[in-house]
Amino acid sequence: MVDRSKCISCGGCIAICPVQAISFVDGKAHIDPKKCVKCGSCMGFCPMGAIDINKQEPEPKKKSKK
Ligand code: SF4
Ligand code: SF4
Repeated sequence: MVDRSKCISCGGCIAICPVQAISFVDGKAHIDPKKCVKCGSCMGFCPMGAIDINKQEPEPKKKSKK
């Protein structure tokens, strides 16, 4: 996930992601966990250390049990 308080919206991670999993949401980078293949490129690139791919976005709670 991206720490929105650290992201300076430089756009570098968006350019570097090989599967276009990152886009700006409300002006800050956002990783689509369904597209991300956890290559780590964005994490290595981010000048602010705002990205941690090992932390997932909190998922919305589902009502059904599976
Ligand atoms: S590389 Fe880091 S600072 Fe730049 S847009 Fe991505 S998350 Fe934000
Ligand atoms: S770790 Fe995920 S979001 Fe980051 S560059 Fe790789 S595929 Fe894209």
